[in-house]
Amino acid sequence: MDDRIIDPSALSNESHVEPEDAQESREVKAQEALLHDVDPSLVDADRVATALDVDPRTGLSAAEAKRRLEKFGPNELASAPPVPKWKKFLQQFQDPLVYLLLAATAISLVAWIIEKVNAAPGAEGGEVLPFDAIVIVLILIVNAILGYMQEAKAEEAVNALSEMTAPTSNVLRDGRVERINTTDIVPGDILVLGEGDTVPADGRLLAAASLRIAEASLTGESVPVSKRPATLETAKALGDRANMVFNGTSVTQGTGRAIVTGTGMNTQVGKIADLLQSTDDEATPLQKEMNHVSKILGIAVCIIAVVVLLALAILEGFHSVHDVIDSLLLAVSLAVAAVPEGLAAILTVVLALGVQRMAAHHAIVKKLHSVETLGSASVICSDKTGTLTRNEMTVERIVVPSGEVELTGSGYAPEGDMVSLDGAAVPEDIANEVLATLGAGLLANDGELREGDKPGTWEVVGDPTEVSLVVAARKTHADKKYEHFQRVAEIPFTSERKRMSVIARNATDAGKLTVFAKGAPDVLLSYCDRIYVNGAVRKLTEGDRQDILATVERLSREAYRTLGEAYRPLDTDSLAQIPGIRTNSTGEIPDISEQADVIEAHLIWNGMVGIIDPPRTEVRDAVSEAHRAGIRTVMITGDHPLTAARIASDLGIIAKDGKALTGDELDAMDEPQLDKATSEVSVYARVAPEHKLKIVESLQRQGNIVAMTGDGVNDAPAVKAADIGVAMGITGTEVTKQSAKMILADDNFSTIVAAVREGRGIFDNIRKFLRYLLSSNVGEVFTVFFGVVFAGWLGIKNPASVGVTVPLLATQLLWINLLTDAAPALAMGVDPMTEDVMDRKPRKLTDRVIDGAMWGDIVYIGIIMAAVTLIGMDMHLSGGLFTDRSVSAMGHDAQMVEARTMGFTILVFAQLFNALASRSHLQSAFVGLFSNKWLWGAIGLSVVLQLFVIYVPFLNTAFGTTPLPPMAWLECIGLAFFVLLASEIRKIFLRMRAKK
Ligand code: ADP
Ligand code: MG
Repeated sequence: MDDRIIDPSALSNESHVEPEDAQESREVKAQEALLHDVDPSLVDADRVATALDVDPRTGLSAAEAKRRLEKFGPNELASAPPVPKWKKFLQQFQDPLVYLLLAATAISLVAWIIEKVNAAPGAEGGEVLPFDAIVIVLILIVNAILGYMQEAKAEEAVNALSEMTAPTSNVLRDGRVERINTTDIVPGDILVLGEGDTVPADGRLLAAASLRIAEASLTGESVPVSKRPATLETAKALGDRANMVFNGTSVTQGTGRAIVTGTGMNTQVGKIADLLQSTDDEATPLQKEMNHVSKILGIAVCIIAVVVLLALAILEGFHSVHDVIDSLLLAVSLAVAAVPEGLAAILTVVLALGVQRMAAHHAIVKKLHSVETLGSASVICSDKTGTLTRNEMTVERIVVPSGEVELTGSGYAPEGDMVSLDGAAVPEDIANEVLATLGAGLLANDGELREGDKPGTWEVVGDPTEVSLVVAARKTHADKKYEHFQRVAEIPFTSERKRMSVIARNATDAGKLTVFAKGAPDVLLSYCDRIYVNGAVRKLTEGDRQDILATVERLSREAYRTLGEAYRPLDTDSLAQIPGIRTNSTGEIPDISEQADVIEAHLIWNGMVGIIDPPRTEVRDAVSEAHRAGIRTVMITGDHPLTAARIASDLGIIAKDGKALTGDELDAMDEPQLDKATSEVSVYARVAPEHKLKIVESLQRQGNIVAMTGDGVNDAPAVKAADIGVAMGITGTEVTKQSAKMILADDNFSTIVAAVREGRGIFDNIRKFLRYLLSSNVGEVFTVFFGVVFAGWLGIKNPASVGVTVPLLATQLLWINLLTDAAPALAMGVDPMTEDVMDRKPRKLTDRVIDGAMWGDIVYIGIIMAAVTLIGMDMHLSGGLFTDRSVSAMGHDAQMVEARTMGFTILVFAQLFNALASRSHLQSAFVGLFSNKWLWGAIGLSVVLQLFVIYVPFLNTAFGTTPLPPMAWLECIGLAFFVLLASEIRKIFLRMRAKK
């Protein structure tokens, strides 16, 4: 097989024979030629196709595409090289908190050196090694490793998400249109472009129908430009190359095919981009608040340290270098105690896990922090069709001038027939009009009904509304009656126009042309001036008009989606004969949208159909759940106001007699009127996409956090403007998906509500472990602070000497902050949601994560923790309030080792009890005590870690601990239990107050 990709002779118009072995270099030269030197806009499309060795009718074969992919590489812009692992690891240390700890390490190192230097020769000069400094550094390294692993886990989750939202594109391969990952596109592929697509590579147009492309991203031109395939005479600037499409731009209208001339970095954006850095790592509100809290803690600890040091200096005076060192060591412990070291990493992992869980439930969030916004949503604006309803359309009623029939059968199976409403046979005249109506509906139609792989199953290709008309035509055999019509031109449906028309050629009547149109009946009717009744055409009277509009209202009130049909014979067999028509020569069905005025005029009314689109059963519950959660559901639809109102009231969105506001009414309002309307009205009908943006902005002006769904290109601005833009995963266009923050894999409204619930749950959990981790820090600070202030009183101070004694060692505090606290905090991040998450009003985004009530919890628990810790220490010291005579024989230093081990262990246990308490601000810890298995696992792990640090000899040396007798453990657990007890008592009071 010839494995050439590009034949240069096709470009240069010269042909000559080459030896086989020159093939490879020739191939490369040809690539270069087309990809860099030759401007494809100056070459005829078929020449470009020959040069790229592809048949525009079938596209590349799968095998060839694979070969080219290997050769040219994936179609993506080179991004900055990934940060190497070692650098990511080092980045773990880039944190003000870590700097503080490193400073602390330096201080303790200096302290050790001073001690060594000052030691009298021969005497023991402090410790052999600077244990504190070494342990702190080791702990920092362990922490960095854990942080690195957690970050990698989060990154993995984010990558999985971006894979789920990876852009895809339609290309022609092996003669079939296939949807493939955009990265797999290769030069020579035939792009099949449609409205709402993002152009995935640079290409030379082969065909275009009303193709308009927004190229602002590339040229800055804000108005979409028209594209046509004609070869250019002279080289033009990018913005004027009308026969080229460019990577990254988006199709706003029409369809087209293009042959890919450049992919990845070989595209125009690639040239501009060169190196595309992903720079959107802006801190989220939550992260900002965390930074704020750390900063406050840092400052607080500095102040406390200065106060303590000054107090010591004044009260005790510094008598020796020793005193200075000890004071500095105290400052170090305080710093370590105050800083929540493990917090940032845990936060990221918890968000990542939550987002993964949401993805499993069809809600794909593009950025981790969108979770925060989700939980705060106060209004969800949703499309009706497909999101609130099932988008399974069935034509049930057909109303024609002479009467009305029902169509039997269900689903898309084309089995059924028309019957009179009273069960009698359908009279001839009515049957005739029905067939004409369904015939028009079938011809003005892009839908297709396909038999599935299993016989008796049916596949819908295209818009379900249209396919329902295909099914109806097949049930009544209108398809047979109209099969001799062949489409020659079309004016496509848009949500703005709410109608579509085609021109079809009648093969049995000398190729005469006829217009067939369908659309929203109230809209279509205004383009009709005649009516088809019982085999004859007559003038449409005002009476007819009133009758038809009354029928629309009647059907709409019964929740039917209505669609009118009309036609007009053109009395000519040539498009060119129709005044005002210009066609382009692409060979495909021309789009004549620009001539809509001429075509959609003087139409003859046929009749209308009533289509049912059953609401999704689960939506009713979702709407009421949202309502309980203080979230308003708003329906936005292009459908008839009465249909919309009926379905909305069936779903519980509005009351039974609730009204819908129409797009026209919205247009007539000024801003204050609009704001008043949007604060009250929850159903908007006959609206165009542009109204969505108005509604979003108005709701946001009133302080709402708005979620807005969208699928078409024109929805993109509203989706982008919303706080939570939601794109449809199935029916959504690429452009909308790119503007959205969340993608619904199942297009289902209930999924949005479920995602909000999940978002709130995650947020609750974040608050739980914040409460948990911060009370630990506050407890430690209080322990150290009061331990120094009341050192004499508690027996911590060595009665035989002057100077400072540190109650707990910096290394012990680090051990708690980084190791024994970490697992329970993580486990709390996956705590099962409480029942009441959707019983509360939405949280305001401006609300503090850690509010006054939570600081109350934190300080209260902190004080209790410090108290029991210090009491427990005192109980093992010969001095102080409680005297332990059994240790009085030991020196004070040895006593302190045991007392510290006690205090250290009490703190760890206090935190474990606190973990249980922190799961709720109000609810008793004993409610659902065992519902989080992970938490119990984590508690077990922490206990084991504590056993290690107390019973493993070298850890004893490193952490200044000593093995405790079994009785001491009971003491520790008993004292620590007070934390849980105190928390329960506080919760009882809080609950009583909340009741009042
Ligand atoms: P929605 O998606 O909110 O239901 P659409 O914009 O799809 O609203 O439809 C608005 C109206 O346009 C419908 O009520 C219907 O009468 C009409 N319509 C919908 N789809 C088509 C179509 N494919 N061809 C012609 N008219 C249509
Ligand atoms: Mg629609």
